[in-house]
Amino acid sequence: MAQRVAVNDGAAGSKRTSRVRVAVRLRPYMDKQDEKSEGSCVRGLGPQKLEIINWRNATETLQYQFDVFHGEETTQQEVFLTSVKPILPHILNGQNASVFAYGPTGAGKTHTMLGSQEQPGVIPRAVKEVFNLVGAQKKEQDGWEYSIGMSYLEIYNEKVLDLLSPGSQDLPIREDKDRNILIPGLTHTPLSSFADFDTHFIPASLNRTTASTKLNQRSSRSHAILLIKVVKSQRGPPHRQQTGKLYLVDLAGSEDNRRTGNQGIRLKESGAINLSLFTLSKVVDALNTGAGGRVPYRDSKLTRLLQDSLGGSAHSVMITNIAPEYKYYFDTFSALNFAAKSKQIVNRPFVRETVLAPTIAPGKRTREEQEAGGSGEPQNKRSKEGKKAEHSPSPPLHPQSSPDSSVLDRLLALEKMMMGSAERERLNLLKTVAQSRKEIQMLKEKQKELEDKANMFNKQKETTEKESKDALLFKTDLPPLHRKQSTAAKPRKQQAVVTPLQVSQVQPLQQCAVVCKPSQTLVKKKRVQTEVCDGKENIGVDLHPVEDVNWESRLDPALLEQSRKKILQTLNSGSLKELKSLQQIGDKKAKLIMGWREINGDFTQVEDLKKIEGVTVKRFSSFIKANILSSMGK
Ligand code: ADP
Ligand code: MG
Repeated sequence: MAQRVAVNDGAAGSKRTSRVRVAVRLRPYMDKQDEKSEGSCVRGLGPQKLEIINWRNATETLQYQFDVFHGEETTQQEVFLTSVKPILPHILNGQNASVFAYGPTGAGKTHTMLGSQEQPGVIPRAVKEVFNLVGAQKKEQDGWEYSIGMSYLEIYNEKVLDLLSPGSQDLPIREDKDRNILIPGLTHTPLSSFADFDTHFIPASLNRTTASTKLNQRSSRSHAILLIKVVKSQRGPPHRQQTGKLYLVDLAGSEDNRRTGNQGIRLKESGAINLSLFTLSKVVDALNTGAGGRVPYRDSKLTRLLQDSLGGSAHSVMITNIAPEYKYYFDTFSALNFAAKSKQIVNRPFVRETVLAPTIAPGKRTREEQEAGGSGEPQNKRSKEGKKAEHSPSPPLHPQSSPDSSVLDRLLALEKMMMGSAERERLNLLKTVAQSRKEIQMLKEKQKELEDKANMFNKQKETTEKESKDALLFKTDLPPLHRKQSTAAKPRKQQAVVTPLQVSQVQPLQQCAVVCKPSQTLVKKKRVQTEVCDGKENIGVDLHPVEDVNWESRLDPALLEQSRKKILQTLNSGSLKELKSLQQIGDKKAKLIMGWREINGDFTQVEDLKKIEGVTVKRFSSFIKANILSSMGK
C-alpha cells in the first residue's frame, strides 16, 4: 500500500495545518434584462478586493479582501495560472491538494471547473498540467516511475456514488492505518495520456447529469468530485512509493446552505440544507481560524472524503464564484461571508484600510458608468463626496429597492448566525473589560487611601521630608485611570470594512428643516466632528471651544425625543459596527459600551453613557449634540 508522505507534519506533536486559500471570481452579466434594469450589487476594487452594497444601509458598502479576486473579465487561463497551477507540483511529491468551486447555482462553478470546448476550465487544464509535470519528471530520469489514474464520484444526499460505474450503490469511506482516506469499491482508471482522460471523463460527466430525473435540482445539490492520483514508485531499493491526490470539486450550490438564524440551524426541517456543504464551511472555518480545536471532518461525507486533502499538509484552494445581478444579492452576500470568514485572521493587518484606489479596467468602468446613468440620485450624492470620492472614480453601486421580506429575514438570520462566531471574541472582550474595571477599582482605592493619608498629614502639620515625597509620588506616579482603561480592550477581528460611500453624510444645517437658526458656531463644530470621526476614537477630543448650551431648545421637541430614542436603541442593541457609526464613538468606546451593557444590562437613558469610563459630563453633552444633529441632518 502506498504511503502518504506527511511532509509538513513536522516534529512530534507539532502538526502544521494549512489554511485554505480563497479566491473569488465574479462572472460577467448573463442576463441582458438585468443589466438594463438593475445594475450591479458587487464590484471589484483591485486584485484582492471587492465591495458589495450593505443591505442595511445603501450608502455603505462592505469590503472584503481575499487571496485573489478575479474580476468579470478574467479568463479561464488566468484563473488556472493564479489559483490552481502553483499547487499542482506538490502532488508529484506525495502531497495532496484540492480545488473547490463554491458559490450559488448560476454563479459559474461549473464554468470555472469544467468550462466549455472553447473555454476549458480548471479540470482539463489541471489534468493536462499533471501530465506535463509527470512527463518532465520522467525525462529527468530521477529514479522514479510515475503512474496517473482517475476516479470520479458524486456525493448526493450524503450518498457516495461512483460516476465511472453507473448504477453503483452508496460507497463507504474508510481510513487506513496511515490515515489515508479510501473508498473501497470505487473505480480507479489508469490514464496514459490526456486524451485518455477525456474519453473517460466526458461520458461520466454526461452520466452525472442524464442519470438524474430532476436534472437541474440534482446537479446543483450534489458535489462532483474528480480525483487524480499520481503514484510515484522508486525503481531501485528500497522501492518506496508515494501517492499524491488531487481533488477537483464542483460543489453543490451554496444557496442550498440555508443556515437560518434566530432559531439556530434548522438542519432537520429544511431539506434544502446540504449537510456536506454546511460541514465544509465549518471545516474551512476551523482550519483558517486556526483555533486549534476539533476540525469536524467526520460530520459529513464530503469532508470525511477530503480529510487527508484539506488542511494538514495538503494544499487547498477555494474559488468562490459570485454573480453580479441584484437578484443574487443574498446568495452573493452569504457566499462572501463564508469565504471572508475563512480570511479573518490572515486579513487582520488590513482591516483598517478604508481608502481604496480601485483598479478597474477602463472598459469595465465605461460600462459601469453607463449603468450608473440610469439612477441619478447616487451620482448627485457623490458629487458632494469628499476625499474618498476622489480616490474612487468608479460609479456607486446601485442601491436597488429594498429586498423583499423573505430575503430580509434571511439576511437578518445570516447576520445573527455570523454573530455567533464573534461571540467568543465578545466574551474575551468582556473578560478584558472586567479585568480592567477591577484594576481601576484597585487604583481608585489606592488613590483614596493615599488621599486620606495626605489629608491626615496636612491636618497634623507634621509633614516630614519623607512624607512630602510620598505626596509627590501620589501626584505623579499613579497611572491615569482613564488612560489605563482606554488601552485595556484588545483590537477585535473584523472580516469586512464598512466604508460610507459618502465621507460627509452631514448636510449643511441650512438644509435641515428642524433647525430654526443654525448659528455659525454649530456649522463649524459639525464640520470638525465629521473630519475627525472617521474610524477614530475621538470622544476624548474637546470639539467645543465655545459651549452652545441652548442648542436643544432650537430643535423640534418631538424629533429631539425621537433622536434620543434612536441613540438609546443603538446603545442597547447596536453591534460594534453600529455603535461605531455613532458620532464620537470609536473602536475603544464602542467596546466599552458593549462591555458595560453586558455587565449592567440595558441603558435606561442616554445619560447612562456617563457611567462609561472616560465619558465626562462635557464629553457626554458633546456626544449627544453631535449625534442628534447628525441624525436630523441626514
Ligand atoms: P453554476 O455551476 O455555479 O451553477 P454555471 O457554471 O453553470 O454556474 O454558470 C451559469 C452560466 O453562466 C452558464 O451559462 C455559464 O456558461 C455562464 N458563465 C459562468 N461564468 C462565466 C464566465 N466567467 N464567463 C462567461 N460565462 C460564464
Ligand atoms: Mg454547475
